Amino acid sequence: MAEAVIFLGPPGAGKGTQAARLAEELGFKKLSTGDILRDHVARNTPLGQRVKPIMDRGELVPDDLILELIRAELAERVILDGFPRTLPQAEALDRLLAETGTRLLGVVLVEVPEEELIRRMLRRAEIEGRSDDNEETIRRRLEVYREKTEPLVQHYAARGSLRRVEGLGTPEEVYARIRQALGI
Ligand code: ADP
Repeated sequence: MAEAVIFLGPPGAGKGTQAARLAEELGFKKLSTGDILRDHVARNTPLGQRVKPIMDRGELVPDDLILELIRAELAERVILDGFPRTLPQAEALDRLLAETGTRLLGVVLVEVPEEELIRRMLRRAEIEGRSDDNEETIRRRLEVYREKTEPLVQHYAARGSLRRVEGLGTPEEVYARIRQALGI
């Protein structure tokens, strides 16, 4: 049977790192909308040209574009990182999972205090030079998270799918909590 895990949490929480580990251990495909979009920007595709200014401002790419990407890339066993990020995306995903008979194994919410998120993203800016990791954009991304993405916590809690995980500590410690939260 098809299965999916969702990673939810603010920017800088470490979702991408943890999602990659879990994908490797379970043999699932990791689907990161941020990575796919950044790849389009790097290759300067028409989609990349369209989304770059949006991403650089810390705003969200329109739902219809994201849903098209997800439909094209969805796999039998998949870990979703950075998607869904809005209620319409979550509702579209609910339908997609139902249509494809995919079981949601859990929604992992990685929780990290805001000061630490900002510290991590500023550090990442120095190391990786991501063009959306500057102070102004970071603050906007956190605002957008609170406004548009945080309501998904309630959406998934109401369905009994939410697994809260403390995101402070070493990546190994956080990963151990995630395995426990998912009952692996
Ligand atoms: P972070 O979690 O650090 O903000 P991501 O790599 O997940 O980083 O996303 C980077 C940017 O890509 C977002 O700020 C947004 O502009 C865009 N993006 C990624 N996923 C989505 C999505 N599901 N819906 C809309 N925009 C998205």
